[in-house]
Amino acid sequence: MAQPESTSTRDTRAASPLDVTAIRREFPILDVRIGNKPLIYLDNAATTHKPQAVIDAVQRFYMLQNANIHRGVHYLSQQATDAYEQARIRIGQFFNAPSSDEIIFVRGTTEGINLVAHSWGSKNLREGDEILITEMEHHANIVPWQLVAERTGAVLRVAPITDDGELDLDAFRARLSDKTRLVAVAHVSNALGTVNPVREIVAAARAAGALVLLDGAQSAPHMPVDLQKLDCDFFVCSGHKMYGPTGIGILWGRMELLEAMPPYEGGGDMIEWVTFEKTTFKAPPTRFEAGTPHIAGAIGLGAAVDFLERVGRPALAAHEEAITAYAVEQLGRVEGLSIVGRPRHRAGAISFVLEGVHPHDIGTILDSEGVAIRAGHHCAQPLMRRLGLNATARASFGLYNKREEVDALVAALDKVRAMFG
Ligand code: PLP
Repeated sequence: MAQPESTSTRDTRAASPLDVTAIRREFPILDVRIGNKPLIYLDNAATTHKPQAVIDAVQRFYMLQNANIHRGVHYLSQQATDAYEQARIRIGQFFNAPSSDEIIFVRGTTEGINLVAHSWGSKNLREGDEILITEMEHHANIVPWQLVAERTGAVLRVAPITDDGELDLDAFRARLSDKTRLVAVAHVSNALGTVNPVREIVAAARAAGALVLLDGAQSAPHMPVDLQKLDCDFFVCSGHKMYGPTGIGILWGRMELLEAMPPYEGGGDMIEWVTFEKTTFKAPPTRFEAGTPHIAGAIGLGAAVDFLERVGRPALAAHEEAITAYAVEQLGRVEGLSIVGRPRHRAGAISFVLEGVHPHDIGTILDSEGVAIRAGHHCAQPLMRRLGLNATARASFGLYNKREEVDALVAALDKVRAMFG
């Protein structure tokens, strides 16, 4: 076994027994070269790469188990149904959901939020009711609420952030009232990496009688997520950001809420009985999974959570925290570079700007060095406006990133600076 690598500026080595060299061998794509340079992949907040175990699970499904689920009496259909439902159970356990029947397979975070906005929102929101979000939300946690507000007459309210890129908790509390029906907040900001104080958010929302939806797109890949401890009402995340396939994610909701929600889409599999006059619907989760789902995707996501369990989320979180702290320190040394946001608790992502260089130019030049980062508004235009920026460059880390890759990022940024004089 290779020695665990040292990744920390603070000494977290004891808490970070991650064998990164061995983990990297499980990701075939990390051997791809960009021109004549090794790939340095620092765009994990956009999507993560897939370990061999996930690739194998998807391939095994198509090679040996492929059939439609829930409908067939034949052998393969039963195999496929078992594999799909087993994935639901494993994912429920992974998130410590009270019941795996509360796990609904969706396309990803975006569809999960739209499902809640459409189904729960259309049934429960009335004129003058309020939905509270924050200034740091991804468009996926803004636009669905705007759409349902337009339909129902509800009002979208926004809690501000501080100049450090943290939620202003006092202002957040001040915006809660007996009109607030739902608080929808990112667990972790994709643009700034800020980890939001969920305990305080949930406690304040409960005191106001509001439900809480957590957008877990950027937390599920980086930290242990225990739904019973978080005590929220809905949680959504995307498989492709947590080492699983694209096109699959989950919505978790409390059973009593799901049971009271109308279907989101109508079609096959979600019905009990159909006549031309009236249709009755199955219980959750099937009620919300109309049509043929992404069976291979769900099975692949099951393999991804098995992989994350095997690696160990506390070790993964410690490793990423150390890498991110090292990156903050090293980026801080690049002349003319400013890190955007200084949250006290950060996971995964660092946004920055370089004096006199457009973020897209940074991204393009880094690409010629084999370094993949993201440049743009990160689907958070209102946040960019709040920060007085059009765009940032963003480096985001995953469990396979190494300290040397941070060094390569910094060296490539020095080349960018040299080019722009
Ligand atoms: N919410 C956050 C915080 C995100 O980072 C993202 C994707 O970047 C989304 C929602 C949307 O996720 P998806 O495109 O997988 O639906």
